[in-house]
Amino acid sequence: MGKLVLFDIDGTLLKGSFAHEQAFRRAFLKVYGIEAGIDMLDHRGKTDLQIVIEVLKLFGLSPGSRQNLYFETLEKEFLIFSQPEKLEVLPGVCALLEKLKSRNIPLGLLTGNARGIAFSKTEKVDLLSFFDVAASAFGDESPVRSDLVEKVRKQGWNPIFLVGDTPRDIEAGKKAKVATIGVATGIHSVLQLTEAGADLVLKDLRDPHFIEFIQ
Ligand SMILES: [Mg+2]
Repeated sequence: MGKLVLFDIDGTLLKGSFAHEQAFRRAFLKVYGIEAGIDMLDHRGKTDLQIVIEVLKLFGLSPGSRQNLYFETLEKEFLIFSQPEKLEVLPGVCALLEKLKSRNIPLGLLTGNARGIAFSKTEKVDLLSFFDVAASAFGDESPVRSDLVEKVRKQGWNPIFLVGDTPRDIEAGKKAKVATIGVATGIHSVLQLTEAGADLVLKDLRDPHFIEFIQ
């Protein structure tokens, strides 16, 4: 297996999704009976499962046997809340994905979003079809982001380039020993992504250094 490029979703491919946060809140209430939200944590770059575990811990709870029900509820609520929402594809994303596709470079999603939510967000902005779902990993699969990278790496791809907007993306990539590209289109700066140890840091995905770097 050859080269693979893995993309994070929020802050990397697109922005403007608030439904996810509302869905978390509703699902916590419906499934665990608690008034809780992801704003109780520094949640950026964490997987959805990690967020659920950490929020429940604040209430002395753990996901337990209701974990699957939680994610089913989360995804259902997300679909309701996301209906009216307009997502914005970040600068350079469409052109870059087209370019990679024209060069037959396989692309995967490596996201903290639960699978159904990742599909829903990327489909809404017509990006889902760029990605090979089998070469992807999602945030309901592990609370540890580097485990997601590891899961894809074990399929035999080499080299892998991981693209993300938070220091946690970069740390996960480094831990799983893949090349990392930080993109400062989320809330983190070029400096923060550089300090996290990214192999390449870009202001946004319009930068032609991306293609050069993965050659
Ligand atoms: Mg992100």
